[in-house]
Parts: sequence; structure tokens; C-alpha cells
Amino acid sequence: MKEILTGIADLIFPPRCITCGELLEQHGPLPFCPPCMAGIHFIGSPLCPRCGTPFPAAEGEDHLCGECLITERPYAVARSVGRYEETLLTAIHRFKYRGKTGIGDLLSRIMADFADNIWDMKAFERILPVPLHRRRLRERGFNQAVILARGLSKRFNIPPWTGNSGRQTFKAHLP
Ligand SMILES: [Zn+2]
Ligand SMILES: [Zn+2]
Repeated sequence: MKEILTGIADLIFPPRCITCGELLEQHGPLPFCPPCMAGIHFIGSPLCPRCGTPFPAAEGEDHLCGECLITERPYAVARSVGRYEETLLTAIHRFKYRGKTGIGDLLSRIMADFADNIWDMKAFERILPVPLHRRRLRERGFNQAVILARGLSKRFNIPPWTGNSGRQTFKAHLP
């Protein structure tokens, strides 16, 4: 039944690549055409295990980067899913500046898959979206980090951090 419904939906809204709009020949795991998919550069080892900065060498062990060796970071671990260029840059811009929140849900899914691969997500107690300044929130109408965090929260069943005042709720920052 689900397949029939998907088939009907495809006839009405043929699946298109989320970044370039190209018609998608087949359903892959992510809604990108092959060239756009190739334009996603995921970050992997060798990288700095503290700040997550990748090293240019394609091979080698993870090790602290020069900056992390001499600077104390205010966090335990930071990771980026991919390089902010090509397909991810286009997708993030559409999400952040054009309010395409559907792209945010997709980015959240990509983040969740990535996080699930490198961490034991059951170990986390809260998901905290980076707060957005009130003025920015008014201008943009939504906090992009909340949309990303909402997806992670749902996927891993980890409650969101609601802040000491209780005002930083997910709902307040959604479009
Ligand atoms: Zn494309
Ligand atoms: Zn580092």
C-alpha cells in the first residue's frame, strides 16, 4: 500500500533533486541526483578527535591538531558532518536563508545518520539547539538549529534542553 501511495505521489510530485531540481530517476536513500550526491563531502578520519578538523592526508591516525594541543576547548568533542561547500552549502543556504524547512528535516536526518555511526546516542541526556538572538529570530522567523535538533531528538528519543527559564522551547522557535 505504501508503495502504491508513493507511486501516486511520484506522479503528482515527481521526485526532484533537492539542490538542483533535476528529476530523480530512482529513489535513493537521499533525494539528491548523482552529481549533487558526489558534491557532498563527508568528513572522516584522519581528524582531530577534539575539534573535528580533518587533516589533508587521506590516511593516518586521528590525533590532536596543533590548535587543540595548545588551547583548552570549552567542549569535549565537536564534529562536523561534511564540508561547507558545494551541495551542502547550497542546501544549508536554502534552508537558512530561504526558509526551506523541508531541507532542514533532511539535513537533520543526515546529521542523525552521521551521529549514529560515530557515537552511542543512548549516552546523551539532552539535545541543545544553539539559541538564536531574539532579533535574528524575528527576522528569520525560525531558528534553524531547533529544526535540526528536533529531528535528532525524535530519532533518538532524547528530550530537548528547554533552558533554565523554560522559554527556549522547541515550539517557540519553529516556523
Ligand atoms: Zn542535483
Ligand atoms: Zn583540534
